[in-house]
Amino acid sequence: MSRKKIANAVRIWYFKLVDNIRNFCIIAHIDHGKSTLADRMLEITGTIEKRRMRAQYLDQMELERERGITIKMAPVRMLYKPKNLNSKTKTSSGFKDKNSIFTLNLIDTPGHSDFSYEVSRALQAVEGAVLLVDVTQGIQAQTLANFYNAKKAGLKIIGAVNKVDLDLAGAEEVGKSVANLLGCNFDEILKVSGKTGEGVEDLLLRIVEEVPSPEKKTGELQSLIFDSVYDDHKGDIAFVRLFQGEVKSGDEIVMAATSGFARVKEVGTFVPEFKPTSFLKAGDIGYIATGIKDPEKIRIGDTIFLKPRAGEKKPVALPGYREPKPVVFVSFYPAEGDNYDELKAALLRLKLTDSALSFEPERSEVLGRGFKCGFLGRLHFEIISERLKREFNISVISSFPTVAYKVKVGGVIKIVENPKDFPESYDEVWQPMVNLEIITPTRFLSGVVALGRMFHFSDFTAESFGEGLIVKIKMPLADLIRDFDDKLKSITEGFASFNYEIFGEEKGEVDKLEILVVGEPITGLSRVVARDEVDFEGREMVLKLKKLLPRQQFAQSLQARVRGKIIAREDIPALHKDVTGYLYGGDRTRKMKLWKKQQRGKQRLKETGKVEISPEIFKELLKK
Ligand code: GDP
Ligand code: MG
Repeated sequence: MSRKKIANAVRIWYFKLVDNIRNFCIIAHIDHGKSTLADRMLEITGTIEKRRMRAQYLDQMELERERGITIKMAPVRMLYKPKNLNSKTKTSSGFKDKNSIFTLNLIDTPGHSDFSYEVSRALQAVEGAVLLVDVTQGIQAQTLANFYNAKKAGLKIIGAVNKVDLDLAGAEEVGKSVANLLGCNFDEILKVSGKTGEGVEDLLLRIVEEVPSPEKKTGELQSLIFDSVYDDHKGDIAFVRLFQGEVKSGDEIVMAATSGFARVKEVGTFVPEFKPTSFLKAGDIGYIATGIKDPEKIRIGDTIFLKPRAGEKKPVALPGYREPKPVVFVSFYPAEGDNYDELKAALLRLKLTDSALSFEPERSEVLGRGFKCGFLGRLHFEIISERLKREFNISVISSFPTVAYKVKVGGVIKIVENPKDFPESYDEVWQPMVNLEIITPTRFLSGVVALGRMFHFSDFTAESFGEGLIVKIKMPLADLIRDFDDKLKSITEGFASFNYEIFGEEKGEVDKLEILVVGEPITGLSRVVARDEVDFEGREMVLKLKKLLPRQQFAQSLQARVRGKIIAREDIPALHKDVTGYLYGGDRTRKMKLWKKQQRGKQRLKETGKVEISPEIFKELLKK
């Protein structure tokens, strides 16, 4: 047989194997045990040898391991031979073949609301989802959010309760509420323990039996980029789900949206490390190493095609994703020396693995050159600033997180994402609002209600949900990114959970709070604050500053200003430095000279109003 014929035969055989592919993800509230369950699956399927196994294997990022949270989705391919196949299970050789080996492509996902964009991308790449609920916690806010999204994506959802080793009675009760949510019978909900491995084989079997195999589509390549990473040698590596056609190393490919072009360096699957294969086919989840060095050319959500031959028309792009919209803005400045170029390179690099991150150059008179960055939420911002430190050894000073305000002044509307551009007075302001769903035990209701004043709740409703309550409210995003998370946790002893969604803008009552030192506003300290809190915040800032600023040879006034009015003031007295101290004896003219010099110095400082505020003090001031 010729090589071509052999290759063809292999391909036909391989194509039949599409029937044996199951693509699924695990979705759950944070800490309900997704990554641990994935560990057991990796073990049972022999994907990871026992000696290489470690807890939450798929959380590869150092920061993920340390914080115990998943930040990035993680795909992995497993080969699995189930023990007791149902007679109706379709396999490559027809129905029920007890020797069938299945390819299970699993995508582990993060749980926090800030990363729901990661989850939504994973959902588009699979046919099924395991919805996991911790028996000691019950259904939580992200359980609901993830469930609705999986349903919207048309996925087959398999319900499971986890951590049954801890609480069997809880398994019964929580199992019933999960069945209720999914609209199925209680006995269809699997009872598993990611820790002991109990029930995990049953779950794998259910995945094989119930998650549909991918649609078999011949024709031109259509593959969806659902993630990407950058490698110095292989360039940008696109994580893809093939919906149609095939791709192999050496193929010429184009990206639909960016028109980027590449000759494929390598294709392969995740084990979970990269493992080259000879080709990828429709239904597969894998990677394409493109060799592309320009991050602009690869966009998550884009479709990869084979380069059309002359005369052929361009194939149709897949629907893709909505562009993630940054909603929280923070300026980053290098904390040490002029690390501006390093910071820029690091942000570009991070953007390759985190398409939701955005940034543009910015300047502060105190902190020098930096970047205004856009994030999906407060945790997203914290994670990026930590990653800069760990992965690139760059520490940054960050400004107060802010949101985008729509401001109308003199009939003209503009968007303000930086407090320094916020006008002293305005006609109207609109601010981004979120819909919040809080799930809490009933006994904390009054505590939750009490948060309403501080965080400006509106449209408050509470209804019973299982044993507890589901509270729905509206609040400004600006309030959510203060310390709502901590406050809710502490008032509900950690029992409540919440999920949020930005839904639009509403008129707000906010003001720019400026901090002046010796009469000069320090722009980096300006902030947009709710009107009913501006007095308190102004006073706090001035007092903090008084503690931190060193005394100078001249008196320093510290003021908080709102709408042109001073609302708080403190003074730091001058340092009476005896500049003539070292000249004892009576050289009067020499002394006069020094006094004069000192006077001139003070004058100069007064004229320019320049007060040195060191980056260290800035850092202290900007702390939460
Ligand atoms: P994720 O955030 O959903 O990925 O959750 P993780 O897999 O990181 O698990 C969160 C915590 O729950 C970790 O401390 C795990 O050790 C623990 N955990 C996960 N599954 C089980 C289980 O079945 N039983 C018990 N007792 N603990 C579990
Ligand atoms: Mg996890």
